[in-house]
Amino acid sequence: MSYQNLIKLKGYKPYFQWVNQHWSSRGKSLEFYKHKYLVEIYKDQHPEIVSKKSAQGGGTERCITEAIWLADQFKENALYLMPTSSIVGDMVQERVDEPINNSKYLAGRSGRLGKILSKQTDKVGLKRLGKGFVYFRGSQNANQITSVPADIVFVDERDRMIEENVPYFFKRLLHSNRKWKRTLGTPTIPGFGIDLEYEKSDQREYHIKCNHCNEWQHLNFEENVVYDWDDNLKKVSNEKLICKKCKKLVVPWECHTEWISQNKNSDVHGYFIHQLYSPFLDLKELIGNSKKTAIWELQQFFNQDLGLAYEPAGAKITEEIIKSCIRDYTIPHPCPDSVVGIDVGKVLHVVTKSKDRIVDIRKCEHFFKEDGPNSLEEYLEARQPKKIVIDALPETRSAMKLAKKFPGRVFLCYYSGLKEVKEKEIKQGKWYKVIKGEPVVHTDRTLSLDSAFNFLNKQNCFMPKNIDDYLEFKTQLKVLVRVILEDSKGNMKAEYKSQGEDHFGHAYNYVTIASDMLTRVVVPEIFTI
Ligand SMILES: [Zn+2]
Repeated sequence: MSYQNLIKLKGYKPYFQWVNQHWSSRGKSLEFYKHKYLVEIYKDQHPEIVSKKSAQGGGTERCITEAIWLADQFKENALYLMPTSSIVGDMVQERVDEPINNSKYLAGRSGRLGKILSKQTDKVGLKRLGKGFVYFRGSQNANQITSVPADIVFVDERDRMIEENVPYFFKRLLHSNRKWKRTLGTPTIPGFGIDLEYEKSDQREYHIKCNHCNEWQHLNFEENVVYDWDDNLKKVSNEKLICKKCKKLVVPWECHTEWISQNKNSDVHGYFIHQLYSPFLDLKELIGNSKKTAIWELQQFFNQDLGLAYEPAGAKITEEIIKSCIRDYTIPHPCPDSVVGIDVGKVLHVVTKSKDRIVDIRKCEHFFKEDGPNSLEEYLEARQPKKIVIDALPETRSAMKLAKKFPGRVFLCYYSGLKEVKEKEIKQGKWYKVIKGEPVVHTDRTLSLDSAFNFLNKQNCFMPKNIDDYLEFKTQLKVLVRVILEDSKGNMKAEYKSQGEDHFGHAYNYVTIASDMLTRVVVPEIFTI
C-alpha cells in the first residue's frame, strides 16, 4: 500500500492539504498559483530529498511545515538543524511561532498541551504539536544533536554546517521506521555540500513551455534575461525575462511547466530552485548584482541569486601553480635541517620540508613502533627533524605522547582562530602563536592556509620534479577552495571549503608553520605569549 493511501486509511491529513488549511506566512495563507513550482515539491514526500536553492525560493518553508505537520499528525519526532543556535532562535520566532499563533487549530494543538507540560514545551527550539515533538537545533554543538532521536531530519543551510558534525546528523534516524532525510541550502563552491548532494540526486530541473513558440526550456540567466546596461551610470533598463527561442516575454506561472530529472539513476529526489521562477523576482536588482566586481559580491550573486555553485578565479592551488614550483631534484630527498607536518586521519599524512622545498611525502600507518610497522615514530627517528607540527585533533592523547618522546620539537596545532592577534601583527607575518612552556601552537584555519598557499603562489616553496608520483598529495592540495561568505551576523568572512579529502593540504599547512618556526627560532619571543 502506498504511503498516501495509508494515511487516508488511518485518517491522517495529507501534508499538502494540511499546509493549505493551517499554515500562513506573514499572516497570509501560502500562495501556490504564482509559486506553481513549489506544488510538486510539497506533494513529494520521498524518503530522501535534497534541495539546491537560491535565497527566498520557499525551500525552508517547505521543510519547516513538514516538520510541524509530522509532529502534529504522528507520534513522531522531527529534528530541524541549522548552522548555529542564534540562527535557530530568530527563525523559530519569525517563521514558526507566528504561523502557529495565527492558526486557531495549531495554537490549540500546541497551547493545550503546553499547559499540561508547562516547562517542557514551547521553549525556543522545542515544539510540541499534538503527539510529536519538533526539535530546532544549531549544529555547532554535537552534544545537542546526539541526544535527540528523530524520525525525520532536516539539514538546512548545508554548506554552513560544521563539516565534522555532518556525518552525525542522519545517525539520529537509527531507531526510526520512517527515516526521512531532507537536505537543503544555498550552494557555495562546486563539488561541495549541497552542490555535491544535488549531483548525487536525480537532479530535477523546472522546465517551462513558452506560450508563444511552445519551446520547452529551463530558465537561466545567460539565455533568458535581457537588458540594456549603461556602464557610466551603472544603470539597468529594459530588463526582461524572455523565451530563449522566440525572445518573447515569459511569465513562468502562466506557462505549462514540468519538473524534469537529469539523472534517472538516483533514488534520491533532488530539486534545483532558483529566483527566475519566483513571483518576487526583482530583475533590475538581479542584473545589478551580476555587474558587481568584488569577488565576494559575485560569489553572492551566483550562490544567493542564481542558486549556483561558484568557484572564483585564483581561489585555490592549481596544476599550473604546482608546476611553476618544480625544481630539478627528486624526493625522498635527504636534508639535515628538515621539519615535518602531520595531519591525522585514518592514517597519518606526513609532509617533510627543508627551508625552501618539499623533501618527502608519505603516509604512516601508526603513531608508535609498538603499534605496528610503518610508524611515525620510526620515521621521525630516522629523519631527526628539528620541528614537528601535528594536528592536535582528534588523537590528542597520541599527539601528546609523541611530544613527550621528542621533547621541544613536537607542537600540537589547534585551528582555534586568533582573536587576540591584531591585524597589524598578522600583516607582519604572525599567523600562528606558540604557547609558552607547552607543546602547543594555535592558528586560524583560513589565515594559516592563506599563508601556506602564498608560499606556493610566490614560488617560495619548491616541488620535486617527480611530484607526479605523489598524485594524492597534489589532489588534496587542490581541493581546498577559498570562498568569502556572509556569516550569521552579516559580516564577510573568508573560509576554505573542501571539495574532497584534504589531509595532505593540511599536512602541508602544518609543515609550513613548522618551517617558519625553524627560521624564526632566533626571535622566539615574538611568537610566544
Ligand atoms: Zn518562445
